[in-house]
Amino acid sequence: MHAVEAYYREVSDGKLSIETTFPPTFRMPHRAAWYATNHAQRDQDARAAAKARGFDPDKFDLEIMVFNSAVGGDGVGIFRGKGLWLAPPIGFAGVVHELGHNFGLPHNAVWKAWDGSVIGPGTEMTYADSYDPMGGGGDDPRNHFSVRSKALLGWFGPKDILNVTNSGRYRIYAEDLPGAAGARGLRIGRDATHEYWVEFRQLISENPYLMNGVRILKCHADVSGKVDMTLNLLDMTPDSPLGCKDAPLLLGRTFCDDKSGIYITPVSKGNTSPESVDIQVNLGHFPANHRPTLRVIATAQAATAGEPIVFRATAGDLDGNPLDYSWDFGDESFDWGKPVVTHRWEKTDGDFVARCTVTDMKGGSASKLLLVTIGHPLLHRLVGSITCYGKPMDNVLVAADTTNSVRTDSEGFFGLAGLKSGNHRITARIGGYWVDPAMVECPATENITMTAFPLGRDTIESKDGFVLQDDDCLSTPATFRPPVQITIVAKTSATNLRLAYAADQVIFNWEVNGTELRVDGGPANGQHKTGMGAIAPNEDVTIRWLVTPKRQMIFVNNKLRFQHAGDYSQIDRPVSVFTHQSTVTVKSIRVRQLPSGIQ
Ligand SMILES: [Zn+2]
Repeated sequence: MHAVEAYYREVSDGKLSIETTFPPTFRMPHRAAWYATNHAQRDQDARAAAKARGFDPDKFDLEIMVFNSAVGGDGVGIFRGKGLWLAPPIGFAGVVHELGHNFGLPHNAVWKAWDGSVIGPGTEMTYADSYDPMGGGGDDPRNHFSVRSKALLGWFGPKDILNVTNSGRYRIYAEDLPGAAGARGLRIGRDATHEYWVEFRQLISENPYLMNGVRILKCHADVSGKVDMTLNLLDMTPDSPLGCKDAPLLLGRTFCDDKSGIYITPVSKGNTSPESVDIQVNLGHFPANHRPTLRVIATAQAATAGEPIVFRATAGDLDGNPLDYSWDFGDESFDWGKPVVTHRWEKTDGDFVARCTVTDMKGGSASKLLLVTIGHPLLHRLVGSITCYGKPMDNVLVAADTTNSVRTDSEGFFGLAGLKSGNHRITARIGGYWVDPAMVECPATENITMTAFPLGRDTIESKDGFVLQDDDCLSTPATFRPPVQITIVAKTSATNLRLAYAADQVIFNWEVNGTELRVDGGPANGQHKTGMGAIAPNEDVTIRWLVTPKRQMIFVNNKLRFQHAGDYSQIDRPVSVFTHQSTVTVKSIRVRQLPSGIQ
C-alpha cells in the first residue's frame, strides 16, 4: 500500500493522500465457496469482524476487503463509493485501478473502428491502454491518469483545462510532470454528447511517440458519472503491430474529424521546463479545401551509420493555407515543422521506410515514402503500389505476413523493410475496398502492383470468390441495424468459417470441436450449440442470418441451426466473414434491410 499511497500523492500533485490502516487477518464464519454466492453476507461478516477488533469501517473513507481465495469479486471496486474486493494475485495495478473506480473514474479503452479508420464506427477495447491505470496500464507508476480523469477528480481545476471554442493556437504542458506554468489539457466540444480531450505526456521517455506527440481521447460530455461512460483513446495508427504505443498524434500531423469540423495539429514543442506543446486547432467546415501537393528529394538513398542525409520537401497549397510538416525516419525518430531536415541513422545494416507528411491543418494532407538503405542489410525490402481503376490509393494498410506493416503514401506507394528470404503473403486493407493478397518471394526485384476493388455498400459478390486466409476479413463498407436478413454464400477448405454481426464471431467447423456451433460475444454470448456447427468442407453453403431487434436465427442451406431471443436492437456494425487456419472462399454477402416493424 505504500506504493499506492505514494502513487496517488504524486499523480494528484499532492491533492489526494491515502493513509492505510491494517486490521489483523481473521477467519470468516462461512467457507469461501458459500460466500461466492452470498456477497451481502460476506461484506456484513467481514465488517463485523473488523469492528469487533476495534476497526470500525464506518470511520474510514475507503475500505478494502482482501480474501485469500476468490469469493466472487476478485478485483472489484464500487463506482464512486466505498467498497473494494481483492483476491490473489493482488498487485499495485489492481489496487490503483479499483480505487480509481471508487473515486468515480470509468475505464479508459482504445477505440477500434470496424473500417480501420481512427474514429469510424467500431468498438471499445477495454484494458488496451497500457499507459493509463484505468486502461489496464497500472503496473508502471509513471503511467498517470488521463487529463480528463484528473479534471473529473478535481486534481485539475478550470485553470488547468483550456475550453476551446474558437480556432487558434493553444499551449498545454505535460500532464504528468509538476510545475507547469499553464494549462495541462484541451477540451474541445464535439457535439451534444461527446467531446475531445488532448493531453501531452513526458514521463515515459523510452516511448518516442508519447515524447513527440499528443494523445487524443474521445469522451462523453456528461460528467455526472456513470461507469459505462468509458473514455476512448484514439489510436492514430490503427491496426499497427505496436498497439497503443504509437497511438499519439505526432507533431506536424493533423487529426481530422471532418463530420464535426474539428482539426487538431500539434505544431511544436514550447522548449519549456516542464515541456509543453503548441497545438493549432481549426474549427469549421472547409468543403472547398484542396489537399496540398508534395514532392520530396533526398541527397542520398543509401548511407553508412551516422552519415547524414538531407531531405527537402516542396509542397504547395492552392488555397494558400499555412502548411506543417512531419518526418518519420522509420527508426522511431521524428522531426517536424520544417520542409528541410537532416537525419542520421544510428542503427546499421537495414532498410528504413521514411515518411514526410504535409498538412494544411484543415483536413488536407499529402505524404511521401522514401526507402533508405543504411550499410549492407541482410534482410530484404519490397516496394509496390496500390491503385483502383488507375487511381493511386492513399493510406492503405499493407502488411507482410501480418507482422510488418506500412501505410501507402499519396501516390499509392508502399515499402516494406526487414523481410527474410522466401515467400511472403502481402495483404492490404482499407475500408470499403478489397485488395487481392499477393505472394512474393524475397529477394524480389520487381515492384508489386496491387489492385483495389470498391465493395458494394450492402452487396459484395465475386464470381471466383474472395479468398481469405490468416487475418483476412471481408466486411461490408456499411454498418446495419436490425431488422436485417444477411445471406452469405461461402465455403471453407477445412475449418473455421467465421461470421460477425449479431455476435463477435459465429464459428462453423471450429478447429477444436467441428460439430459445435460457437457463438462468442453479443446478446447470445456463450450459447454454443452442440451438433449444429458442422458444414461440408470445399462445398458452397448458403448461410442466412436473420436478426431482428428481439431475436436472431441462423440457417444453413435453409435448415435452422441456431436461434436466440434477446435485445438485438442496439447492434450497429458491418457484416464480416473471416477465418482461422483455413482458406475460406466467399462468393457473396448480401444484406437486406427489413421493414422496421419486424420484431
Ligand atoms: Zn475496472
